[in-house]
Amino acid sequence: MSTPTSVPLIQRSAARLAEALAAGETTSVELTRLFLDRIDAVDSSVHAFLHVDAEGALDAAAASDERRASGELRSALDGVPVAVKDVLTTEGLPTTCGSKILEGWLPPYDATVVTRLKDAGLPILGKTNMDEFAMGSSTEHSAYGPTRNPWALDRIPGGSGGGSAAAVAAFMAPLAIGTDTGGSIRQPGAVTGTVGVKPTYGGVSRYGLVAMANSLDQAGPVTRTVLDAALLHEVIGGHDVMDSTSIDQPVPPVEQSAREGAIGDLDGVRVGVVTELGGEGYQPGVQERFDQAVELLVKAGAEIVQVTCPNFVHALAAYYLVMPSEASSNLARFDAMRYGLRVLPEGVEAPSAEEVMRVTRDAGFGDEVKRRIILGTYALSSGYYDAYYGQAQKVRTLISRDFERAFEQADVLVSPTAPTTAFKLGEKLDDPLAMYLNDVATIPANLAGVPGISVPAGLAEEDGLPVGVQILAPALADDRLYRVGAALEALLERQWGGPLIDPDKLDKELAR
Ligand code: GLN
Repeated sequence: MSTPTSVPLIQRSAARLAEALAAGETTSVELTRLFLDRIDAVDSSVHAFLHVDAEGALDAAAASDERRASGELRSALDGVPVAVKDVLTTEGLPTTCGSKILEGWLPPYDATVVTRLKDAGLPILGKTNMDEFAMGSSTEHSAYGPTRNPWALDRIPGGSGGGSAAAVAAFMAPLAIGTDTGGSIRQPGAVTGTVGVKPTYGGVSRYGLVAMANSLDQAGPVTRTVLDAALLHEVIGGHDVMDSTSIDQPVPPVEQSAREGAIGDLDGVRVGVVTELGGEGYQPGVQERFDQAVELLVKAGAEIVQVTCPNFVHALAAYYLVMPSEASSNLARFDAMRYGLRVLPEGVEAPSAEEVMRVTRDAGFGDEVKRRIILGTYALSSGYYDAYYGQAQKVRTLISRDFERAFEQADVLVSPTAPTTAFKLGEKLDDPLAMYLNDVATIPANLAGVPGISVPAGLAEEDGLPVGVQILAPALADDRLYRVGAALEALLERQWGGPLIDPDKLDKELAR
């Protein structure tokens, strides 16, 4: 394995880039240029970005270099560039949420996550592609065309945050921000061989995160290493008065836990394997890598317990009532008056507001968004509310109780992150239920508000594509994800002789 300094800059982890900046080996401007050049070179094949802000990123990088010269750094990641999912508002920069309805909209304010990235000195490279309004598991529902998986360009990069995951996997950005309502950070992480974290609900501000389902949405880190995720988590996490659901508590000690975990010692840690999240319905190669990861945890000293969460089998059904209900209400704001697109009905002289709204929403929203608005409106309608939305909320409570009981027996829970590796573009596009099933293992965490991480666990035997292991912890115990995640990562890398992503193999695929 090569020594750290012989690894080309764009292939290094964010932690290593911060060291290179500190050592004067490079500058933030040089680094930012390298990533912008990489985007120029490969994003025509991947399509991870919807908007690249070269000028803004280079300006921020120059400011970081000046700070460094005067010894006034703002964070451990000052000067390290980042990409941001296009669902977070960026002042003066397009924010489309992957939808035509927001085409041309320039937000007048930054999301708190974006403000924190800027305040910490991270140049923002651009906005990443996503399923429209974060609805999907493949990024194929983007109104601007799909993102491709850098491991195999004919495959999906996961979703909804496929753009962020693909950008990081293809070395177009060392760090990215994603959002996870039902798995959109973790599932793309699993299928692209990257790390993705959904923090505890309320741990990262939702101010400026365009809402799909307020009670489920959470922004978090997308990276190539567990330590990088922790460093980014420290930057974006913490209380925000602008978000009434934000938790007024310090960020859990995630960086420290990631560093401790990397030693690879899990003595005394109780790891619960969730019976309901594995086995039947999971691709054999996925299950095999998961089982091997559990064996490694045992070798590191962890105690394995089998836990059952009987109500998890209803999670998907409950999610597809709660989420569309909230989404249908959230998306009512796209009324052709306030944001982005406005389409006028043809041949109508003085159209009413309702007519303009109708044709604009018809033209501006894609099929999946319309499907969920209809589902949600139905579930909330009088007479059906108790039968659908009310029932789903009860199931949600049962799922939280399953977690509570499981966490009495175990410090963390583990499962495969997704039931399969990356599938082919188009394969599930006409089958919404098959698409929804990709999140069967990730959704319970959103319904209960607990944190989760996906860590690369190797390649599936049958197709050579990445597999992710999910680790879940109790609310506010995000640090446990990082301890166990970093341990697993270290143990696996020892076995593989280095990180999962092989840059040469990747470049061959990208050159196809
Ligand atoms: N794939 C899930 C859905 O379509 C989750 C999406 C997300 O987490 N944003 O709703």
